[in-house]
Amino acid sequence: MRAMILETPRKPLRLDDLPVPKPNPQQVLIHVHACAVCRTDLHIVDGELTHPKLPLVPGHQIVGTVEAIGERVEKFHVGDRVGVPWLGHTCNHCRYCLSGRENLCDYAKFTGYNLDGGYAEYTVADESFCFLIPGDYPDLQAAPLLCGGLIGYRAYRMTGDAEKIGFYGFGSAAHILIQLARY
Ligand SMILES: [Zn+2]
Ligand SMILES: [Zn+2]
Repeated sequence: MRAMILETPRKPLRLDDLPVPKPNPQQVLIHVHACAVCRTDLHIVDGELTHPKLPLVPGHQIVGTVEAIGERVEKFHVGDRVGVPWLGHTCNHCRYCLSGRENLCDYAKFTGYNLDGGYAEYTVADESFCFLIPGDYPDLQAAPLLCGGLIGYRAYRMTGDAEKIGFYGFGSAAHILIQLARY
């Protein structure tokens, strides 16, 4: 499959030909339709997040179709359209996982950082961290929701019935949330 590879931080991504990944028992194999660009991807490529898997396929706002499933996958079927976000693995036993705050997991792994991501024709992802994308929602509009939209909506929900909301520094999250707040 064609894939864009980060071999060394601060160097341009390189087009490469990689084997199609095989899903493990908990994973789905996804044929990627779209993968948005997040500011975090640029931090990784620029070497500002300092411990990426290398070489790495970046990209963590992935939309695609399930092409194969691992033997223990229960939530998804071949043909489902799914989204894959930044959080790609948690340990299920640290104090954060046990208190419903898996986003803070001490042993988390992240798509397009510790795990290969979506700048490729195919990717694999743990079914626990995939979302079903509603059928009528276009790929290109769905992809940015997997990070900017998801993080922004979480913050928006915490504002309760605030009459005024300010945004600070959130790039795509801000432009999505401004639309949401106006609606
Ligand atoms: Zn992101
Ligand atoms: Zn944990």
